[in-house]
Amino acid sequence: MTAFSLDPGQTAWCEELYTLARDELRPLAEKGEPGHVNRPLVAALGGLGLLDRLLGSGALDLCLLRESLARGCTEAETALALQGLGAGPVRQAGTESQRARWLPEVRAGRAVAAFALSEPGAGSDAAALALAARPAAGGWRLSGEKCWISNAPEADFYTVFARTGEGAGARGVTAFLVPADRPGLTGTALDMLSPHPIGALDLDGVPVTSEDVLGEPGRGFRVAMDTLNLFRPSVGAFAVGMARAAIDATLEHTAHRTAFGAPLKDLQAVSHQVAEMATRTEAARLLVYAAAAAHDAGEPGVPRRAAMAKLYATETAQYVVDAAVQLHGARALRRGHLLEHLYREVRAPRIYEGATEVQRTIIAKELYATQETPA
Ligand SMILES: Cc1cc2nc3c(=O)[nH]c(=O)nc-3n(C[C@H](O)[C@H](O)[C@H](O)COP(=O)(O)OP(=O)(O)OC[C@H]3O[C@@H](n4cnc5c(N)ncnc54)[C@H](O)[C@@H]3O)c2cc1C
Repeated sequence: MTAFSLDPGQTAWCEELYTLARDELRPLAEKGEPGHVNRPLVAALGGLGLLDRLLGSGALDLCLLRESLARGCTEAETALALQGLGAGPVRQAGTESQRARWLPEVRAGRAVAAFALSEPGAGSDAAALALAARPAAGGWRLSGEKCWISNAPEADFYTVFARTGEGAGARGVTAFLVPADRPGLTGTALDMLSPHPIGALDLDGVPVTSEDVLGEPGRGFRVAMDTLNLFRPSVGAFAVGMARAAIDATLEHTAHRTAFGAPLKDLQAVSHQVAEMATRTEAARLLVYAAAAAHDAGEPGVPRRAAMAKLYATETAQYVVDAAVQLHGARALRRGHLLEHLYREVRAPRIYEGATEVQRTIIAKELYATQETPA
């Protein structure tokens, strides 16, 4: 069990990332078009060496990156995380030539990646995916639909999980690296509450060969899960970063806004609310770091701890952002206000990469399997 405090180097790196996000990346994010890939922002993440760092990171560094960027600019955080999610299977399971073709481009922020697992009929139950890979001359043809895919339809390549049929459920899934210019691949943008780009993909007999397989045929579900397991605590870190941004704004606002002849912070109902927001956020932060460090150290109980971190941090961030809106009053709901933005951003992480209820199922399953209380 790791007891947590970051070392001075890590703390300084987090501050540096936060300042970069706030001062250099946020202006670029503000020039982007909501719902579309912001290529200058992705290129800046590459130019600053952050994508290079991302692709070489273990879970803890990934968390520090995501938390610090999210505190300063959620769009930069999400653009970075999506490069990691989309390129994760290539990094983990790609051949030398797949890695040589795509990873330098992803690192430089010139190629945009996407991770295409979900389908209209398979969300939480991802192993029920139906997108068919049918044998054809030289390989397979992919036919079916993917939906809720971040960066679609504007990404340059997709990691697509398809059913090659070696077995039922998770056993019959193969991962493919599909460049966006393959014939038969089209997509549509979806207009979502959260600001980042999301779309649906339609695959109509898209040709793929053994050179496009990531890992081994029939082992693609493992490829998806290895990437998601690395990312799960870091979704919590993204949430912690948003909660910290909401607390920063609330401290500033309640110290200066006067009502009934004094700053809001002099009302105990207000200052105690801020104390509660900060305490829950700190607890979430420690849970995230501990889960990430356990992942990197190969300690036991990682699925349970990662699930606890993701569950607690995303639920906490929702509570904190909502409380921050309350303490700001009407101005927080004005379009363009930081809290209006965070209010839209904070909702989705409770659903994606394993909804809150799915995390509870993972935790409970492990608790009953081992019949022990969390260490
Ligand atoms: C902003 C955003 C970005 C996304 N990006 C991607 C992406 O890049 N790539 C990708 O592949 N997918 C992506 N997704 C899809 C995401 O992974 C799915 O939304 C998620 O897996 C849930 O699936 P679903 O929406 O079909 O909900 P369903 O599976 O239909 O579940 C609906 C609800 O039912 C409940 N529920 C489900 N299962 C259980 C259970 N076992 N026990 C108790 N309750 C349960 C939960 O409340 C859940 O929220 C994204 C989604 C969003 C919102």
